[in-house]
Amino acid sequence: MIADRIKKTLEPSVWLEFSPLANCLNACNLGQGFPDWAPPKFVLDFLHEANNNSQYHSYARSSGSDRLTHNIKKYYSDKLCKSLDPHDEILVTAGASEALYASLVTFVNPGDEVIVIEPAFDLYYSSIEMAGGIVRGINLEFEQRGDALNSSDFHLNMHRLEETLNSKTKMIIFNTPHNPTGKVFSRDEILAISKILSKYPNCIVVSDEVYEHLVFENDRHIPMASVDGLRDRTLSIYSAGKTFSVTGWKIGWIIGPKHLISPLQSTQQWIVFSVASILQEAIAGALDAAQMPYEGHSNYYEWFKHTYDQKRMFLYNALKKLNFKPILPQGSFFILSLYHLTDENWSTIPDEVIQLNKQGKIKVNQKSLSYKDYNYARNLAIHKKVVTIPVSAFIGSKSQLREEDFRFVRFAFCKSDDIIKLSVANLE
Ligand code: PMP
Ligand code: GLN
Repeated sequence: MIADRIKKTLEPSVWLEFSPLANCLNACNLGQGFPDWAPPKFVLDFLHEANNNSQYHSYARSSGSDRLTHNIKKYYSDKLCKSLDPHDEILVTAGASEALYASLVTFVNPGDEVIVIEPAFDLYYSSIEMAGGIVRGINLEFEQRGDALNSSDFHLNMHRLEETLNSKTKMIIFNTPHNPTGKVFSRDEILAISKILSKYPNCIVVSDEVYEHLVFENDRHIPMASVDGLRDRTLSIYSAGKTFSVTGWKIGWIIGPKHLISPLQSTQQWIVFSVASILQEAIAGALDAAQMPYEGHSNYYEWFKHTYDQKRMFLYNALKKLNFKPILPQGSFFILSLYHLTDENWSTIPDEVIQLNKQGKIKVNQKSLSYKDYNYARNLAIHKKVVTIPVSAFIGSKSQLREEDFRFVRFAFCKSDDIIKLSVANLE
């Protein structure tokens, strides 16, 4: 009875196995990317204020509450180098996830091709399938340039991009800062992409920028839409979940030109109609408050970046000492790490995982039973009580890759210092 376009997406995702596994084992969860601490007090204060106002217990305006869209205009116009119209160029969504789904379902016809840069956040693949599109993957190439591995060593081969684009390409999804590598696309790279895309005026760019505030050291986040040639074809996607540590709220937004946002606003009325009013009010307030001095920093975002940078360096240095081969991320809250397999038994699925799956406590993707990185991550969880994410979950066209490409796991450092330290102690 299941629709053909859905059939391919039915296997459980990596999230349905590894977070429940962390709970069952009472293990440290450095897997799924959600901050495990309370949101900032100012966010909760705005939440209480909105909760006490009966007006915010009814449906919000379908395309986003007045206050939130107004504040998105206020804080993103400079960033995207364009004076935004809060009614015509912004859509508030149920997280970045729904923003991605809505973008695909609105613009992709059955048989249209959608390019993803691999490894890629797993939701892209299934959302493309659900919209009837065809995934065309281009894997980032890796070439070590300095003494230590760095996410800037990943690059997009522009010839591959040119080869992959064709008259059927409807959309290309970028993600900067990039999950799971931590790569931050430079202005030069984005300019090169823009030049290539100029030959394909009907190709829409979706730029997933949910880690916009997590860019470290001398790197800078360059929104794709801020670059000439891309502005009028780009849908930029953001999420309050990452920035304000409220991943469970599922508030995100899409910014783009009117000719793309207007059809999306129409689709939105048939998907969720509107997004939680109280939460939109709280995030609108948070966008103002985040500009104020915070915990000894000039504003909340500076504190946010500083706090994450300390976690990033602590975990990176610890992983290096532990003989992993971590790749220092320029952005995001993930560290991709090559591992050494010292015990070949770790290439097979542990019995405990099979039992937990049988008991219905975790959901194991049947195809992943033989994947080496999945089994490494499963063994790490069982034997060291540290949960990570196997990176082949982020690769669609696995057949293009060699066995050794699967020897990566992803560590999330959006976790309390105590949990990160306990993880390191367990791994030691
Ligand atoms: N895009 C990327 C790159 C992500 O890592 C995530 C994970 N949260 C999302 C989108 C989804 O964001 P949200 O939780 O706001 O739906
Ligand atoms: N985006 C987060 C990650 O990559 C969480 C994924 C999810 O919840 N679907 O870990």
